[in-house]
Amino acid sequence: MSVYWNSRVKNLSPYVPGEQPREKKLIKLNTNENPYPPSPLVIQALKKAADDDLRLYPDPACTELREAIAGRYGVKPEQVFTGNGSDEVLAFAFGAFFESGPDHLPVLFPDISYSFYPVYAGLWGIPYKTIPLADDFSIDTDNYKIISGGVILSNPNAPTGIALSVDRIKQIAGFLKKNKKILIVDEAYIDFACPGEGLSIIPFCNECVNVLAVHTLSKSASLAGLRAGFAIGSAALIEGLCRIRDSFNSYTMDRLALSGAAAAIRDEGYYKTVNKKIIATRLRVSSSLAALGFKVIPSQANFIFASPPPSSGISGQALYAALREKGVLVRHFNKPRITDYLRITIGRDADMDVFLQICGEIIRRR
Ligand SMILES: *Cc1c(COP(=O)(O)O)cnc(C)c1O
Repeated sequence: MSVYWNSRVKNLSPYVPGEQPREKKLIKLNTNENPYPPSPLVIQALKKAADDDLRLYPDPACTELREAIAGRYGVKPEQVFTGNGSDEVLAFAFGAFFESGPDHLPVLFPDISYSFYPVYAGLWGIPYKTIPLADDFSIDTDNYKIISGGVILSNPNAPTGIALSVDRIKQIAGFLKKNKKILIVDEAYIDFACPGEGLSIIPFCNECVNVLAVHTLSKSASLAGLRAGFAIGSAALIEGLCRIRDSFNSYTMDRLALSGAAAAIRDEGYYKTVNKKIIATRLRVSSSLAALGFKVIPSQANFIFASPPPSSGISGQALYAALREKGVLVRHFNKPRITDYLRITIGRDADMDVFLQICGEIIRRR
């Protein structure tokens, strides 16, 4: 606290990111990074971009990257916005589409979801209301068909990993459209949903003009360190995002990020292979944890949300600490309904085997 802080800064409650440990020896399963490297074509593009042209500002319209994304997802480049990680895109979307001030209707999101949503609402002074998940942690979409200031959902949800069908998403969008409000669908983990489920709202963004889909390259494109994310929606929504960005910083993506991200988007094949491996590991680890007596929430993401068997008498916090002691870092959220759960990022098979073995030892020791 400082006397020089204005009331805005005093009243913020910033997001606390998962730990990035200095110790290299830890098995890091705490921030949903991809355990596999980015496509070799990305590294090649980054090396090529590291040249004398760095003296020049990057393309403020991010044309090459937006065209690559538009081509991959079958939309027009005017329907694509890109930014410095999807966190930035989400922050801009809150600023562009949700009203600020206590006289406005609250924006709705689940009580258990991405913990950055209340932070963005706080930053912009947007009123919000959280809607409890059902006892099985699923989202009852009927709860979102009420008069509100708009809705944001993560699909699959984080940290539960449970996904909603496109039909359910469309129903919420249809309701909101009647009241001229928007639905933001944060699809950070959609590439890890089982193939063929068709869960993304992107193919429907021409008919759902009040829906903004937000993606990140941090998880499924192995590029958390590059900072790249994007949104797809109607051209008018994208223009709204540009108005916020250009009132803040015209160059949120640098030359390296623009080149590397475009190369990643173009190399769909490489990432399909990598993420198929992660899905297979997720299924295997889920059954192994269930065999140990864990309660495992069925996940469509690159993480598993699970709680230790009650008979072990070990709390979520204690299991987190015991794993850390043994060199495995997972994520524990000290929040009322989920305090006995851990969120475990899916890593390489060998690392997951170490994790499973240590879990078994800890449970049996009790
Ligand atoms: C990781 C994550 C993001 C942010 O990703 P960045 O692109 O790295 O900023 C957004 N939403 C959810 C639900 C996430 O888990």
